[in-house]
Amino acid sequence: MISGMTVVAGVAGSPVTHSLSPLIHNAWLSAAAVDGVYVAFSPPPDRFKAFAYGLRGGAIRGLNVTVPFKAEALDVADRATDRARAAGAANLLVFAADGLILADNTDGVGLMRAFALQAPGFDPAGGPVVIFGAGGAARGAAAAFLEAGSAEVRIVNRTMARAEALSAALGPGVRVFGDAASALAGANAIVNATTLGLGGGPGPEAPFDAAPGGAVVMDMVYNPLRTAFLRDAALRGLRTVDGLAMLIGQAEPSFEAFFGFKPPPVDVREMALHALGEGA
Ligand code: NAP
Repeated sequence: MISGMTVVAGVAGSPVTHSLSPLIHNAWLSAAAVDGVYVAFSPPPDRFKAFAYGLRGGAIRGLNVTVPFKAEALDVADRATDRARAAGAANLLVFAADGLILADNTDGVGLMRAFALQAPGFDPAGGPVVIFGAGGAARGAAAAFLEAGSAEVRIVNRTMARAEALSAALGPGVRVFGDAASALAGANAIVNATTLGLGGGPGPEAPFDAAPGGAVVMDMVYNPLRTAFLRDAALRGLRTVDGLAMLIGQAEPSFEAFFGFKPPPVDVREMALHALGEGA
């Protein structure tokens, strides 16, 4: 039911039609019987800033931001949280009534919630964390692990210069590794933050035998849910955490920022699995 008081929030990305965020947020809104709606926007890739500035003053309450706009989302903000600055990217913009644009990054929260949910007892301070990738998601994850107490984050990436830039941005706790096997030695957690595996292809080359048996393996890719990376890790007896848990984990604080209360207890994971064609 759309009324004259409907609160509007949404997600901006390009492409965005595949996003599960509208399904998740609208399920929460519907369960809470709140007069609100969450919609998807796809501004032209070179027009994101104009699009976001046009929302100043509260045309809508806020936006989640996804690929490829997360870095620009930080640029348009008047104020940003420390964690958004550390990640170098924002996945959440709130349009305040006074015209200010506030930026945050809840991906790190989502990542940590996913570990807490699917790998109970995991301690981020328990040893080195290996991250495959050096894009926005990898940088956000590295910042979140450092914040959560990890002393060492190891980056493995196809483009070394990008990995070096990430290390330079986050400091000496982040080290660049040229080969996966030596990075995996002694690893406490291993995260795929590349786009490899999306749509069902192979993930990054990871010799999981080089990792300790207690390592937890996480894949940010959630389509498919059981990626080759996670299947391979499970075959070697390692605990796994999936990207859908992270997606829902980052949506929860976003919802609260938009609508002012915590999401009601609805099984949005089940709905998302159905939408992904993963069945129950
Ligand atoms: P990005 O900035 O475009 O970075 C992409 C990364 O993938 C880079 O490290 C890139 O390496 C690597 N890569 C791409 N193609 C490759 C290939 N053929 N071989 C080796 N490496 C390759 O993307 P992003 O924003 O960081 O997102 C990364 C992934 O995380 C995406 O799949 C995204 O959907 C996912 N994600 C999931 C969640 C969630 O809630 N589950 C949240 C955020 C992101 P180079 O530097 O060498 O190009």
